[in-house]
This record gives sequence, C-alpha cells and structure tokens, in this order.
Amino acid sequence: MEQIPFAYCVVATGKKWMAPNDIPDTRIEAIRDMKAYRERIAAAKNIVVIGGGAVGVELAGEIASSFKGSKKVTLIHAQKKLINSTYNEKFRDGLQKQLLALGVNMHLGDRVEGEYDFASGPVDLKTKEGHSITGVDLVIPATGGSVNTYPLQALVPQSISSSGVKVKPTFQLEGHDNIYAIGDLADLPEQKQAMKTAGHAAIVNTNIVNSIKGTPLVNYKAPREAILVNLGKSGGQGCADFPLLGKTTLGPWMAKTFKGKNLFLPEARTALGY
Ligand SMILES: Cc1cc2nc3c(=O)[nH]c(=O)nc-3n(C[C@H](O)[C@H](O)[C@H](O)COP(=O)(O)OP(=O)(O)OC[C@H]3O[C@@H](n4cnc5c(N)ncnc54)[C@H](O)[C@@H]3O)c2cc1C
Repeated sequence: MEQIPFAYCVVATGKKWMAPNDIPDTRIEAIRDMKAYRERIAAAKNIVVIGGGAVGVELAGEIASSFKGSKKVTLIHAQKKLINSTYNEKFRDGLQKQLLALGVNMHLGDRVEGEYDFASGPVDLKTKEGHSITGVDLVIPATGGSVNTYPLQALVPQSISSSGVKVKPTFQLEGHDNIYAIGDLADLPEQKQAMKTAGHAAIVNTNIVNSIKGTPLVNYKAPREAILVNLGKSGGQGCADFPLLGKTTLGPWMAKTFKGKNLFLPEARTALGY
C-alpha cells in the first residue's frame, strides 16, 4: 500500500447505493450500466419500487409516465407520507395524488418482508401489513445509500453513526484539525443533496487557506431546504423554505419548467467536466 504524507486531508467518500443507483465512476461504465438497467425496466411488466424518498418517487413517476399504463408500478414506503417530514404536508400529499393519477399503486406505512430470488421468474412479495403483490418481475431498491464512513472508522470511531461522520461547524473532525469530512459523508442536520456539496467545499477551501495563514476559521451555516421532485416530463412538485414565507409548495409547473426538461443534466455535466 502506498502512503501519501499530507498537511491537510479532505474526505468526501459519499454513499454506497444499490443498483440502479450505484453509478460507476467512469463514463463508459456508467452509460453501460444505465443502458442495461433501462432494458430491464423496459422488459419488466410488474415493477415494485421500495422506498418513497425523492429517488423512489421520481423513479416510480418516470416509469409510470414513460410507459403509460403498460406496466404495473407499485411504490412501498415505510412512512405514512411520501419523502420525509423535512418538507410540508401539501408537497408530500401532492406527490401522492399525482402518482395515483399516473396509476402507481402505493403501500404507505408498510415494508417488504423477506428476501426474494428472481432467478426462476416472477415472485410474490409480502409486506409487513399483510399485503401480497403477486407476479413481480423487477424490484428496484430505493431505500437510501449507506454512508462510506470506512476510511475514518479507525480514526474517529466515536464520531461515526449510520448518518455519517460528526464534524465541527468548520467541517474538521473532532480531535483532528487538519482532517475535514464533507458531502454525504458529513453527519449534518440537513438533507443530503448534491446541491449542498459546493457550499461544503467552499467552506473547507476557505478554512484550509485560513489555517495556513493563521487567521480564524469560518463556520458552515446550512442553507434553507429546497427540493424539486419530478414525475416524468410534466409532473412533479417542489417545496422550498423561503425567508418570511416558510415552507412553500411549488406546483407541477415549477417542477416542469425548472427541472422537467433536462433534470439539470447540462449543469451537472458542466460541473463534472463532461
Ligand atoms: C438517483 C439519485 C438521484 C439524486 N438526485 C439528486 C438531485 O436531484 N439533487 C441533489 O441535490 N442531490 C441528488 N442526489 C444526491 C446526490 O447524488 C448526493 O448528495 C451527492 O452525490 C453527494 O456528493 P458526495 O461528493 O458527497 O458523494 P458522492 O457523489 O457519492 O461521491 C463520492 C465519491 O467517492 C468515491 N470513493 C468512495 N470511497 C473511496 C475511497 N476509499 N477512495 C477514493 N474514492 C472513494 C466514490 O467512488 C465516489 O466517486 C441524488 C442521488 C441519487 C442516488
């Protein structure tokens, strides 16, 4: 193993997701995996998405709107309402209503039980609340990734939980002022989103420069929460926590206009240098 001496280290190992969300790092592999998974979705007739967070809701909505009634789509979510309680009820109820209109079956406040083997054809799924979903030929897990805390587990075991690594408001690790953790890896009281990571990086950039200069470090202040969840090209809903107004629902027009056309792909490609 090669050892690399460092003055400062920033750890940003993110989360490990399950297929189809475990996107490889290289462009060729990512395109190959996505094409293969798209073919699996196209071939399936009876799809169950497990997990009604933003990823599961968008996937269920995308499949239902792309294949308009030609597939049975079921979404199972452990909470009584979609997404989570960071966002207002109107937003969460609105998404549920739109998914129902797209023909998506939903089991809320329920969980899939047991393990299933698809090798010999479609399976019947059972839920904790006693529902049976028969003839399922594709299950898409969208239950959230697990945080890649392993590089720091030996260094700061007391700071690690399933939410990530506890950091100071400067992003430094407790007891290790020259090591920072950012992105999904950092255990912060905020929703883990790509759009937050640039803010984390900017604070760490400033703090490394300031610590070299011997000037005071700056603290991260979490931005107000905002989300746009799209259901196909023309549906969806958003929620943004505006100053004075508080948590405000953004209707399908906002989702369609700002994210529905291209899912922010041009911006993401530019940011990643593609
Ligand atoms: C399907 C999906 C849709 C999403 N949609 C949105 C959205 O619309 N808007 C939004 O804001 N957020 C979205 N997110 C969340 C967003 O992807 C994450 O918040 C963001 O990627 C976190 O960035 P990160 O740099 O912390 O981690 P990651 O993007 O996970 O990057 C971590 C990197 O570290 C690498 N790595 C891991 N371990 C090691 C190691 N030991 N050595 C070297 N490298 C290592 C990994 O290979 C990976 O490249 C979505 C997530 C998913 C899965």
